[in-house]
Amino acid sequence: MFLKLEESLGEQSGLSLLSNHVCNRIGSTDAKVADKTAQQLEERTPDWALQDGHFWLIQFGKKICTSRSPKCDRCPVSDICLWFVAQTK
Ligand code: SF4
Repeated sequence: MFLKLEESLGEQSGLSLLSNHVCNRIGSTDAKVADKTAQQLEERTPDWALQDGHFWLIQFGKKICTSRSPKCDRCPVSDICLWFVAQTK
């Protein structure tokens, strides 16, 4: 699903960039480019989460884990976020 979205929207779309920074901060992917992030997500996401996962990831990137000023103080996944843990050491 993620790869299909990438193909239809273009690999450098806003959609891709949002997913890329969120996934790399949390630590669910470690790719440098958006298309590789999408590939890693596709490989690591269980089937049950594929259908709506990208939508929720985009919403999370727009409202909580924004690229310039992530709202870590009210983030529901800060306890598993590698970026947050590194910042608070
Ligand atoms: S803790 Fe901060 S950086 Fe980590 S996922 Fe949440 S908002 Fe993003």
